Formats: sequence, structure tokens, C-alpha cells
Amino acid sequence: EDEEGGVVYLSHSLSSSSSSSSSSRYGYASIENQRQRLPVYKYRSAILYLVESHATSIIVGETGSGKTTQIPQYLKEAGWADGGRLIACTQPRRLAVQAVSSRVAEEMGVKLGEEVGYRIRFEDVTTPDVTRIKFLTDGVLLREMMDDPLLTKYSVIMVDEAHERSISTDMLLGLLKKIQRCRPELRLIISSATIEVKTMAAFFQPSKRRRRLEGDELGPKMDPAILSVEGRGFNVQIHYVEDPVSDYVRAAVSTVMLINDKEPAGDVLVFLTGEDDIDAAVKMLTEEAQNIKKSSSGLVILPLYSGLPRADQELVFSPTPRGKRKIVISTNIAETSLTLEGVVYVVDSGFSKQRFYNPISDLENLIVAPISKASARQRAGRAGRVRPGKCYRLYTEDYFAKEMSVEGIPEMQRSNLVSCVIQLKALGIDNILGFDWPASPSPEAMVRALEVLYSLGVLDDDAKLTSPVGFQIAEIPLEPMVSKMILSSNELACSEEIITIAAILSVQSIWASGRGAQKELDEAKLRFAAAEGDHVTFLNVYKGFLQSGKSSKWCYTNCVNYHAMKKAIEVRGQLRRIAQRLGIVLKSCERDMQVVRKAVTSGFFANACQLEAYSHGGMYKTIRGSQEVYIHPSSVLFRVNPKWIIYHSLVSTDRQYMRNVISIDPSWLIEAAPHFYKQRHNPVLH
Ligand code: ADP
Ligand code: MG
Repeated sequence: EDEEGGVVYLSHSLSSSSSSSSSSRYGYASIENQRQRLPVYKYRSAILYLVESHATSIIVGETGSGKTTQIPQYLKEAGWADGGRLIACTQPRRLAVQAVSSRVAEEMGVKLGEEVGYRIRFEDVTTPDVTRIKFLTDGVLLREMMDDPLLTKYSVIMVDEAHERSISTDMLLGLLKKIQRCRPELRLIISSATIEVKTMAAFFQPSKRRRRLEGDELGPKMDPAILSVEGRGFNVQIHYVEDPVSDYVRAAVSTVMLINDKEPAGDVLVFLTGEDDIDAAVKMLTEEAQNIKKSSSGLVILPLYSGLPRADQELVFSPTPRGKRKIVISTNIAETSLTLEGVVYVVDSGFSKQRFYNPISDLENLIVAPISKASARQRAGRAGRVRPGKCYRLYTEDYFAKEMSVEGIPEMQRSNLVSCVIQLKALGIDNILGFDWPASPSPEAMVRALEVLYSLGVLDDDAKLTSPVGFQIAEIPLEPMVSKMILSSNELACSEEIITIAAILSVQSIWASGRGAQKELDEAKLRFAAAEGDHVTFLNVYKGFLQSGKSSKWCYTNCVNYHAMKKAIEVRGQLRRIAQRLGIVLKSCERDMQVVRKAVTSGFFANACQLEAYSHGGMYKTIRGSQEVYIHPSSVLFRVNPKWIIYHSLVSTDRQYMRNVISIDPSWLIEAAPHFYKQRHNPVLH
């Protein structure tokens, strides 16, 4: 009976002890009333005082206490947005930017995009001279520095979710610290959900020398102020599994069923890792729920991940219908960035998708990896928002105590730094190793990045940004390798095709993989599959979509994700405008796919691989580091195994899998990057 998915929990009684209280959602309270009930409200004047008197304020408060939605409003009410100035609030995640800004617009009773707006890559929902509070990703704010290095429009910049230590957040913190030196009137708020703010406080502590130079009497105090907002989280009872689970998706599904069966009313939040396992869990849960008649009508099962279309996002945030139980299955986006009302039970898989980069092998991967204790605590805390809750951890207590790391590693120290370095260079920061980082990246990773950028033609012999290629690449808001591919498409006369490919690669998968039937999807892919590889296949899908009149029905029949296609078309339009601004001639190569492949090679030469062994998904070795890699089963080349290929990205599970691959001719590599491949001992290439 107790097969794979059957989970047994330790130290708990799944009794329906407390009589099911009607959950204390604020359903009917006025918005003003709701705002005043939030924990930050009591600190309103304290926060405003600190911001007034200190250059940098660090504000710590539990998720849901009102930091993100309230503080920007307090600042505006206090006049920080007067005189045409703007208040910025950055988030590491795009979905959070959208969700939070629409909530704040609603609270202020204004139309989103007017007084309250947001900006994420390829989407600017603000109005010049009207927008006063602007939510944006930290990456977009970094980009804004290229046009306005001192960010003069902003009076206050709130760097939110700083505890996440995303690579863009860390870059931003380093740069903002520099900006403050030129703009003492600029106020920074660093907000974080964890108490561990010593690193941040130390980072913003002015040196003795600087203090002497500037004196303390004029302007705001340079020492950072720290304020901790007292949470009012309820107690959360923790349950651990008795034995390790082998399949966390299955275990999560049975745990949800167990909760639904035994526990009083209250929504459930499940933490998985990404679109794939979330979709799988939604499907399994829907099936299970249908088997049990009485609960089938009572469960509202919803996924939550970054690629989610707008309408689905709204479902997640809307109140649970009476007599129903909402089950939200989420990535770690719901860990601290978003607050879901009504959650009483949390199921924590113990994993999240994380980026890992190894400068020795030069491979960057997305890996499903164990979370830290700090994350586990955050996740559990989500259950105690409205009343005492329960958290079910799909790992053992022993594992938590002995094996989980205390804190995560900043993304800066586990990323490929190519994008980071080019941005800093574009901002005129040449001594990158000497830059003042909250956490220093490894010198090896730096050297690797410089090497790639040099080969891309971005940097000259003195590691300075060379014009015009370097500046053009820096200007395009995409990874440098994609930008290079777009620039090369100009000479190769295939810019229309390459821009389509770049747009599709920048959205989440265009295949509707969540719908179930793998066979159906495989057959649909065959209809579009191109022998050259996935990039060319994308062009076929795009053509088909246009010919169908951008029909959602056509997408359904062909297992294509309609929302992803629509998004890709939008992005494509923007990239065309950017390309034109850079002087790229928009031109189609019609049927000549060789030039398309050459353009891809000119950007992604560093990701070239050679086939080692035939077999299904045969083994390849990277030319650069001789690392073992395999074609991902989702690729149209999975069973084809061309001798030479280039991959777009890697994901790692049991093996390193290449996602989105295209076949190439090895001679193009030397053509594209002579320096890069010259000194490497690759007799095969010569
Ligand atoms: P913090 O940033 O401290 O985690 P937030 O400001 O995001 O907190 O959230 C404060 C409160 O605002 C939440 O507890 C919730 O009640 C409400 N809220 C936030 N976002 C939304 C939303 N999209 N829909 C409904 N309520 C929301
Ligand atoms: Mg927040």
C-alpha cells in the first residue's frame, strides 16, 4: 500500500482538532482598514523618520507585513514623489513586479500605468510625468543606469527582497552605493524578509576615511539605519516525513490529499521547483481529486510560476470561493515575493531550481537543488498568516538538522558573469575585480567572462568596451550572446529570422507541455521539426502561427503554448525596433538556413559540442571543457544526434542536458571566434 508516493509523517497527529473556524480573510474590510491592519502601519512614522534622516535604511519584516505594498505609498504620502520625482521599488522577479504594482494601484484607487506603474524587460507600463511610484525588476533599473547613470529621476530607491541576493540585486547595491557618493540626497531602502542583515549593514557602513571627508553634520547620516518590523505570524506546527521520499512530486500530491481529507478548512501552498513538476503535480492532483467524489468539487488547483499568463495569476490571488479549498502549487516565488491570503497549510518539497556555474568546466546549469534552512523557515512561515498553521516538510528532521545549509549562496557566486561584466563595462566600471561587491565573485569566473566577451568582439585588448560592436551588444537588453547573434544577422542578411529566434528564446517554452499526452506533443513537434535543430523548428512554428491568423485553436491542435507565442510576437516587435535603432537592416533569408545557423554560431560558439557516442540522446563533449553533455529529450534533435552542435542552455538532473540545440559546421567556429578556438588544443577543428 505504502508505495512511492505514500508519505508517513513523524511527530504529528493529523487530527481535525480545532473546529474549522471560518478563515479570517479580510473579505469585507475597506482597503484603508486593511492597510492599517498590516504590521508596518505601526512603524509608518518611524520608517519615514529614518528615511528622512539616513541615506540608507534597512528594513526587515516578515513576508506579508506590508513592506512592498505600503512603504512606497508612505513615501509618496510624505512628499518624496513631489516635484516630479519618482519612487522606485525593485524586485528580483517579473511576476512579483506585476502582481505588486497592480495591488498598489488598486489600493490607491488609480489605474495601473498612471500614478503607479511598472517596468519589466520588454514591458513598460508607466506614463512619463504622471507615474510617481514605479515597480521594476532590479535588472531593468540597472539598464536605466545606462541612460541615466545617477538615476536622477528617483528620490528614493527601495531595493526589495534583498535577502534573495540575486545577481542583479547585488550589482545594484554596489552601484547604488557609488551613486550615493555623488547624490547624497538620494535615499535607499534595503528591505529583506530575513533578520540576517549584518552583511548589508556592514556593506553600507561608510569607511572612517569617508566619514572624515564628508562630516556628519550636513545632510543625512551615512550610517545605515536598521528597523525591524515586528511580525504577527501565528505559530506553525512543523511535520517531517519519517523516511526520505524518492519522488517529491508524488509525495506532495499525497500530502495534499491527506490534508484535504483530515484537516479543517484553509488553503494549501505547495512548493515545488518549476513549470515541469508543477504541471505534473497539477495533473496528478486533478486526477486524484476526481477519484474522490466528495472533494472533487471542493478543490481549486492552481499553478504559480513566472511564465504564467495574466488571467491565471489573477485566479491565484483572488479569494477562495466559499466552501472550497485552494491548492496553489508554486515555485519559490511564493516564498517571500508574493503573499497569498488564506494559506494555512504549506507543503515544502525542500527543493528549488537554482543556477550553478562552474568556472572550471565553464558550464552554467539550472539545477533542482536543496534549499537552505533560511528558505525552509520562510516557506513554513507562509502557513501562519491568518491563523495557526501547519507545514509538511517532505524531508526528514535529521536531514533538516544535519544536512541543510544555513543560508544560500549569493547568485553572484554561482553564475556565469558574462552579462554582469558587460553591463558594468557599459557603465564605465573598468576595474571589475576591484569593484565593491556585497559578495565578491570568483576571479576564475571573472576571467572566463572576460575571455568570452573578448571573443564576442565586445572588449578590446585592454578589456575596454570597444565601439561600436561592444556598445551595440550592451544596448540590446538580452544576454550578450543573443545580442551578438542579432548583430551578425545583419551581415548574414537574416535579421528577421534571427530576431524571431531571439524572441522565442526569451519567453518560456512555446510548447504546451503541461497538457499531458506526451505522445500528442511529440507528434505535434514532428510536424514542425527541422533537421537543422530547434532554432529552425521555432521558425516553422512561428510561420504556422502567423498563417493561422494567430489562432488559439491552432495552438491547441498543435500543442503550442498560445500565451508564449503572443508574448514572443510582442517581444519580436520590440527587438525589431531596437535593431532598427542600431542600424540593422531588417531582412529575411527566405529558405537559406545556413546563414541562420552561422548567425547562431557567431553568438553561441562557446557552447559548441561534438558527438562522442551514438545512442538515444547520445553523449556529447563540450569542445571548450570536454564536459559530458546530452541532448534534452524535448529537443527535435534528441534522436538525430548530428556530429557538431551548439546548445542554448543547460539543465541538469541526473545528467547535463542541452536545451535548444542546432547543428553546425565546425569550420564556422574558427570563423566566428578565432581567438577562442585558436589556442585550444582542438586538432579536430583544424
Ligand atoms: P511584504 O512585502 O512585507 O511581504 P506585502 O506588502 O507584499 O508584504 O503584502 C502586504 C499585504 O497586502 C498582504 O498580506 C496581503 O494581504 C496584501 N496583498 C499583497 N498583494 C496582494 C494581491 N496581489 N492581492 C491581494 N492582496 C494582496
Ligand atoms: Mg514584499
